[in-house]
Amino acid sequence: MKKQVWIWLLILTAMVCFLISLTGQIQQFAKLSSLLAEEDIRELLRQQKIPTELFETFCGYEKDSEYSRYDYMLGYLFTEQEGQRELEEYLELLYQYQKSKIQELSEMEQAVWKDLEYFPVPLSPKDSSLVTSFENSWMFDRNYGGNRGHEGTDIMASFNERGHYPVISMTDGTVEKVGWLKLGGYRIGIRAPNGGYFYYAHLYDYAREFQEGEEIKAGELLGFMGDSGYGEEEGTVGKFAVHLHLGIYVNDKNGSEVSVNPYWVLKWLEEKRLNYQFSQEEKRLNDQFSQEEKRLNDQFSQEEKRLSYQFSREEAENADQIG
Ligand SMILES: [Zn+2]
Repeated sequence: MKKQVWIWLLILTAMVCFLISLTGQIQQFAKLSSLLAEEDIRELLRQQKIPTELFETFCGYEKDSEYSRYDYMLGYLFTEQEGQRELEEYLELLYQYQKSKIQELSEMEQAVWKDLEYFPVPLSPKDSSLVTSFENSWMFDRNYGGNRGHEGTDIMASFNERGHYPVISMTDGTVEKVGWLKLGGYRIGIRAPNGGYFYYAHLYDYAREFQEGEEIKAGELLGFMGDSGYGEEEGTVGKFAVHLHLGIYVNDKNGSEVSVNPYWVLKWLEEKRLNYQFSQEEKRLNDQFSQEEKRLNDQFSQEEKRLSYQFSREEAENADQIG
Protein backbone atom coordinates (compact mmCIF):
# COMPACT_ATOMS: atom_id res chain seq x y z
CA MET A 1 0.00 0.00 0.00
CA LYS A 2 2.72 2.45 1.07
CA LYS A 3 4.73 1.53 -1.98
CA GLN A 4 1.79 2.36 -4.27
CA VAL A 5 1.46 5.84 -2.74
CA TRP A 6 5.12 6.50 -3.48
CA ILE A 7 4.71 5.39 -7.05
CA TRP A 8 1.72 7.66 -7.51
CA LEU A 9 3.58 10.55 -5.92
CA LEU A 10 6.48 9.95 -8.30
CA ILE A 11 4.16 9.90 -11.29
CA LEU A 12 2.47 13.07 -10.11
CA THR A 13 5.80 14.84 -9.65
CA ALA A 14 6.89 13.77 -13.13
CA MET A 15 3.66 15.07 -14.57
CA VAL A 16 4.01 18.42 -12.81
CA CYS A 17 7.56 18.79 -14.09
CA PHE A 18 6.41 17.89 -17.58
CA LEU A 19 3.60 20.43 -17.42
CA ILE A 20 5.92 23.17 -16.17
CA SER A 21 8.36 22.60 -18.98
CA LEU A 22 5.49 22.40 -21.47
CA THR A 23 4.09 25.70 -20.20
CA GLY A 24 7.53 27.29 -20.62
CA GLN A 25 7.72 26.01 -24.16
CA ILE A 26 4.22 27.19 -24.92
CA GLN A 27 5.04 30.63 -23.54
CA GLN A 28 8.16 30.82 -25.68
CA PHE A 29 6.21 29.65 -28.68
CA ALA A 30 3.50 32.21 -27.96
CA LYS A 31 6.13 34.95 -27.73
CA LEU A 32 7.48 33.95 -31.11
CA SER A 33 4.16 33.45 -32.76
CA SER A 34 3.11 36.86 -31.48
CA LEU A 35 5.65 38.17 -33.96
CA LEU A 36 3.79 36.29 -36.61
CA ALA A 37 0.60 38.14 -35.71
CA GLU A 38 1.20 40.62 -38.46
CA GLU A 39 -1.66 42.93 -37.53
CA ASP A 40 -0.59 43.39 -33.88
CA ILE A 41 2.99 44.08 -34.85
CA ARG A 42 1.99 46.55 -37.49
CA GLU A 43 -0.28 48.41 -35.08
CA LEU A 44 2.40 48.67 -32.38
CA LEU A 45 4.91 49.78 -34.96
CA ARG A 46 2.48 52.43 -36.20
CA GLN A 47 1.82 53.77 -32.71
CA GLN A 48 5.58 54.04 -32.16
CA LYS A 49 5.18 54.82 -28.48
CA ILE A 50 8.77 55.51 -27.48
CA PRO A 51 9.03 58.07 -24.63
CA THR A 52 12.09 60.32 -24.89
CA GLU A 53 13.82 59.00 -21.78
CA LEU A 54 13.54 55.42 -23.06
CA PHE A 55 14.95 56.41 -26.42
CA GLU A 56 17.99 57.74 -24.58
CA THR A 57 18.16 54.54 -22.51
CA PHE A 58 18.18 52.39 -25.65
CA CYS A 59 20.96 54.54 -27.13
CA GLY A 60 22.91 53.64 -24.00
CA TYR A 61 22.18 49.90 -24.39
CA GLU A 62 23.46 50.03 -27.95
CA LYS A 63 27.04 50.65 -26.81
CA ASP A 64 28.99 47.37 -26.60
CA SER A 65 25.98 45.43 -27.82
CA GLU A 66 25.36 43.37 -30.94
CA TYR A 67 21.90 44.96 -31.10
CA SER A 68 21.14 48.46 -32.34
CA ARG A 69 18.96 51.04 -30.56
CA TYR A 70 16.31 50.26 -33.19
CA ASP A 71 16.28 46.60 -32.17
CA TYR A 72 15.82 47.58 -28.51
CA MET A 73 13.06 49.98 -29.53
CA LEU A 74 11.23 47.21 -31.38
CA GLY A 75 11.69 44.88 -28.41
CA TYR A 76 10.16 47.52 -26.18
CA LEU A 77 7.26 48.23 -28.55
CA PHE A 78 6.36 44.55 -28.73
CA THR A 79 6.93 43.48 -25.10
CA GLU A 80 6.87 46.72 -23.04
CA GLN A 81 10.00 45.41 -21.28
CA GLU A 82 12.56 48.11 -20.56
CA GLY A 83 15.45 46.16 -19.06
CA GLN A 84 18.44 45.40 -21.25
CA ARG A 85 18.62 41.71 -20.25
CA GLU A 86 14.93 41.04 -20.90
CA LEU A 87 15.05 42.83 -24.23
CA GLU A 88 18.16 40.94 -25.30
CA GLU A 89 16.60 37.59 -24.45
CA TYR A 90 13.65 38.50 -26.63
CA LEU A 91 15.82 39.82 -29.45
CA GLU A 92 17.95 36.70 -29.38
CA LEU A 93 14.86 34.58 -29.96
CA LEU A 94 13.69 36.83 -32.76
CA TYR A 95 17.03 36.81 -34.53
CA GLN A 96 17.16 33.03 -34.14
CA TYR A 97 13.71 32.21 -35.45
CA GLN A 98 12.45 35.28 -37.33
CA LYS A 99 15.60 36.84 -38.69
CA SER A 100 14.31 38.32 -41.94
CA LYS A 101 11.19 39.66 -40.22
CA ILE A 102 13.08 41.40 -37.42
CA GLN A 103 15.58 42.81 -39.90
CA GLU A 104 12.75 44.25 -41.97
CA LEU A 105 11.13 45.79 -38.89
CA SER A 106 14.44 47.18 -37.70
CA GLU A 107 14.89 48.89 -41.06
CA MET A 108 11.42 50.42 -40.77
CA GLU A 109 12.32 51.66 -37.30
CA GLN A 110 15.47 53.26 -38.69
CA ALA A 111 13.43 54.89 -41.45
CA VAL A 112 11.38 56.64 -38.78
CA TRP A 113 14.17 57.72 -36.44
CA LYS A 114 17.60 57.71 -38.01
CA ASP A 115 17.43 60.86 -40.13
CA LEU A 116 15.69 63.11 -37.61
CA GLU A 117 17.54 66.30 -36.77
CA TYR A 118 15.21 69.18 -35.96
CA PHE A 119 11.73 69.97 -34.73
CA PRO A 120 9.81 71.22 -37.81
CA VAL A 121 8.90 74.62 -36.33
CA PRO A 122 11.86 76.69 -35.11
CA LEU A 123 11.66 79.16 -32.25
CA SER A 124 11.63 82.91 -32.62
CA PRO A 125 14.17 84.47 -30.26
CA LYS A 126 12.50 87.83 -30.94
CA ASP A 127 9.02 86.93 -29.90
CA SER A 128 8.60 84.40 -27.13
CA SER A 129 4.83 84.46 -27.51
CA LEU A 130 5.12 82.60 -30.82
CA VAL A 131 4.89 79.13 -29.40
CA THR A 132 3.40 75.87 -30.62
CA SER A 133 1.67 72.96 -28.97
CA PHE A 134 0.66 69.47 -29.96
CA GLU A 135 -1.01 66.44 -28.51
CA ASN A 136 -1.30 62.77 -29.32
CA SER A 137 -4.28 62.69 -31.68
CA TRP A 138 -3.31 59.50 -33.51
CA MET A 139 -6.34 58.02 -35.25
CA PHE A 140 -8.78 60.54 -33.79
CA ASP A 141 -11.85 60.91 -36.01
CA ARG A 142 -11.66 63.33 -38.91
CA ASN A 143 -14.81 64.37 -40.69
CA TYR A 144 -13.58 65.89 -43.95
CA GLY A 145 -12.94 63.44 -46.79
CA GLY A 146 -15.07 60.60 -45.44
CA ASN A 147 -14.74 58.70 -42.20
CA ARG A 148 -11.09 58.36 -41.40
CA GLY A 149 -8.63 58.44 -38.52
CA HIS A 150 -6.03 61.16 -38.03
CA GLU A 151 -2.78 59.82 -39.45
CA GLY A 152 -0.42 62.40 -38.06
CA THR A 153 0.20 65.07 -35.45
CA ASP A 154 -1.07 68.65 -35.61
CA ILE A 155 1.32 71.32 -34.38
CA MET A 156 -0.90 74.21 -33.38
CA ALA A 157 0.11 77.89 -33.49
CA SER A 158 -0.40 80.14 -30.45
CA PHE A 159 -0.81 83.01 -32.89
CA ASN A 160 -3.59 81.97 -35.24
CA GLU A 161 -2.46 83.78 -38.35
CA ARG A 162 -1.43 82.10 -41.56
CA GLY A 163 2.08 82.70 -42.90
CA HIS A 164 3.62 83.56 -39.57
CA TYR A 165 5.53 80.50 -38.42
CA PRO A 166 8.36 79.10 -40.53
CA VAL A 167 8.37 75.36 -41.24
CA ILE A 168 11.72 73.61 -41.74
CA SER A 169 12.72 70.15 -42.82
CA MET A 170 13.25 67.72 -39.95
CA THR A 171 15.63 65.64 -42.07
CA ASP A 172 17.88 65.64 -45.09
CA GLY A 173 16.20 64.16 -48.13
CA THR A 174 14.69 64.77 -51.54
CA VAL A 175 11.43 66.44 -52.46
CA GLU A 176 9.09 63.67 -53.52
CA LYS A 177 5.76 65.48 -53.71
CA VAL A 178 4.88 69.16 -53.73
CA GLY A 179 1.73 71.16 -54.49
CA TRP A 180 -1.99 71.14 -53.75
CA LEU A 181 -4.01 68.28 -52.26
CA LYS A 182 -7.66 68.67 -51.33
CA LEU A 183 -7.02 67.27 -47.83
CA GLY A 184 -3.48 68.48 -47.17
CA GLY A 185 -3.72 71.82 -48.95
CA TYR A 186 -0.27 73.07 -49.95
CA ARG A 187 1.96 70.24 -48.87
CA ILE A 188 5.51 69.03 -49.34
CA GLY A 189 6.77 65.50 -48.84
CA ILE A 190 10.45 64.78 -48.21
CA ARG A 191 11.94 61.29 -48.61
CA ALA A 192 14.80 60.93 -46.12
CA PRO A 193 17.93 58.83 -46.83
CA ASN A 194 16.82 55.86 -44.67
CA GLY A 195 13.48 55.64 -46.46
CA GLY A 196 11.10 57.58 -44.20
CA TYR A 197 8.62 59.93 -45.89
CA PHE A 198 8.00 63.18 -43.99
CA TYR A 199 4.84 64.98 -44.98
CA TYR A 200 4.21 68.66 -44.11
CA ALA A 201 0.67 69.87 -44.83
CA HIS A 202 -1.68 72.89 -44.75
CA LEU A 203 1.16 75.31 -45.59
CA TYR A 204 0.34 78.93 -46.26
CA ASP A 205 3.13 79.24 -48.79
CA TYR A 206 6.38 77.62 -49.88
CA ALA A 207 9.79 79.12 -49.18
CA ARG A 208 10.49 78.91 -52.90
CA GLU A 209 9.51 76.92 -55.95
CA PHE A 210 10.51 73.38 -55.06
CA GLN A 211 11.01 70.76 -57.76
CA GLU A 212 10.39 67.06 -57.26
CA GLY A 213 13.72 65.26 -56.88
CA GLU A 214 15.43 68.29 -55.44
CA GLU A 215 17.77 67.74 -52.48
CA ILE A 216 16.89 69.24 -49.12
CA LYS A 217 19.02 69.68 -46.03
CA ALA A 218 17.74 69.20 -42.50
CA GLY A 219 16.83 72.62 -41.10
CA GLU A 220 16.12 74.08 -44.54
CA LEU A 221 13.14 76.42 -44.79
CA LEU A 222 10.24 74.69 -46.57
CA GLY A 223 7.51 77.25 -46.16
CA PHE A 224 5.12 78.83 -43.68
CA MET A 225 2.45 77.40 -41.46
CA GLY A 226 -1.08 78.01 -42.66
CA ASP A 227 -4.61 76.69 -42.89
CA SER A 228 -4.84 75.57 -46.52
CA GLY A 229 -6.79 72.46 -47.46
CA TYR A 230 -10.15 70.77 -47.00
CA GLY A 231 -11.40 71.99 -50.34
CA GLU A 232 -11.62 70.76 -53.91
CA GLU A 233 -10.56 74.19 -55.10
CA GLU A 234 -6.85 74.99 -54.94
CA GLY A 235 -6.14 77.72 -52.41
CA THR A 236 -9.02 76.90 -50.05
CA VAL A 237 -8.20 78.30 -46.60
CA GLY A 238 -9.93 79.00 -43.30
CA LYS A 239 -11.60 75.66 -42.69
CA PHE A 240 -9.67 75.13 -39.44
CA ALA A 241 -7.13 76.87 -37.17
CA VAL A 242 -3.59 77.53 -38.42
CA HIS A 243 -1.41 74.48 -37.82
CA LEU A 244 1.17 72.19 -39.34
CA HIS A 245 -0.03 68.66 -39.99
CA LEU A 246 2.94 66.37 -39.84
CA GLY A 247 2.83 62.83 -41.17
CA ILE A 248 5.47 60.08 -41.20
CA TYR A 249 5.27 57.09 -43.54
CA VAL A 250 7.57 54.12 -44.01
CA ASN A 251 7.46 51.24 -46.49
CA ASP A 252 7.52 47.55 -45.64
CA LYS A 253 9.54 45.12 -47.74
CA ASN A 254 6.64 44.69 -50.17
CA GLY A 255 6.67 48.41 -50.75
CA SER A 256 3.33 49.07 -49.06
CA GLU A 257 3.15 52.29 -47.15
CA VAL A 258 2.59 52.31 -43.40
CA SER A 259 1.69 55.51 -41.55
CA VAL A 260 3.41 56.03 -38.21
CA ASN A 261 2.34 58.22 -35.30
CA PRO A 262 4.73 61.24 -35.24
CA TYR A 263 3.79 62.24 -31.67
CA TRP A 264 6.69 60.52 -29.83
CA VAL A 265 9.14 61.54 -32.52
CA LEU A 266 8.08 65.17 -32.07
CA LYS A 267 8.32 64.86 -28.29
CA TRP A 268 11.93 63.79 -28.68
CA LEU A 269 12.64 66.53 -31.27
CA GLU A 270 11.21 69.23 -29.02
CA GLU A 271 14.66 69.39 -27.43
CA LYS A 272 16.16 69.96 -30.85
CA ARG A 273 14.72 73.23 -32.01
CA LEU A 274 16.49 75.75 -34.18
CA ASN A 275 16.17 79.49 -33.76
CA TYR A 276 15.44 81.73 -36.69
CA GLN A 277 16.35 85.34 -37.05
CA PHE A 278 16.56 88.28 -39.39
CA SER A 279 19.75 88.78 -41.36
CA GLN A 280 22.12 91.46 -40.10
CA GLU A 281 21.40 93.90 -42.92
CA GLU A 282 17.66 93.63 -42.46
CA LYS A 283 18.04 93.93 -38.72
CA ARG A 284 19.99 97.16 -39.17
CA LEU A 285 17.40 98.60 -41.50
CA ASN A 286 14.67 97.41 -39.23
CA ASP A 287 16.24 99.19 -36.26
CA GLN A 288 16.24 102.45 -38.20
CA PHE A 289 12.53 102.27 -38.82
CA SER A 290 10.36 104.68 -36.96
CA GLN A 291 7.46 103.29 -34.98
CA GLU A 292 5.16 104.22 -37.82
CA GLU A 293 7.32 102.39 -40.31
CA LYS A 294 7.51 99.43 -38.02
CA ARG A 295 3.76 99.33 -38.03
CA LEU A 296 3.83 99.44 -41.81
CA ASN A 297 6.51 96.81 -41.75
CA ASP A 298 4.09 94.47 -40.05
CA GLN A 299 1.82 94.95 -43.00
CA PHE A 300 4.49 93.80 -45.44
CA SER A 301 3.29 91.39 -48.01
CA GLN A 302 3.97 87.75 -47.29
CA GLU A 303 6.52 87.72 -50.08
CA GLU A 304 8.67 90.25 -48.23
CA LYS A 305 8.17 88.52 -44.95
CA ARG A 306 9.26 85.32 -46.56
CA LEU A 307 12.48 86.89 -47.75
CA SER A 308 13.25 88.36 -44.40
CA TYR A 309 13.53 85.01 -42.66
CA GLN A 310 17.12 83.92 -42.71
CA PHE A 311 18.16 80.79 -41.01
CA SER A 312 21.52 80.43 -39.52
CA ARG A 313 22.14 76.84 -38.64
CA GLU A 314 25.65 77.75 -37.56
CA GLU A 315 24.41 80.24 -35.02
CA ALA A 316 21.87 77.80 -33.72
CA GLU A 317 24.58 75.21 -33.32
CA ASN A 318 26.74 77.70 -31.44
CA ALA A 319 23.77 78.44 -29.22
CA ASP A 320 23.80 74.74 -28.32
CA GLN A 321 20.36 74.07 -29.73
CA ILE A 322 21.40 70.73 -31.10
CA GLY A 323 21.78 67.74 -28.84
ZN1 LIG B 1 -3.70 66.80 -38.95
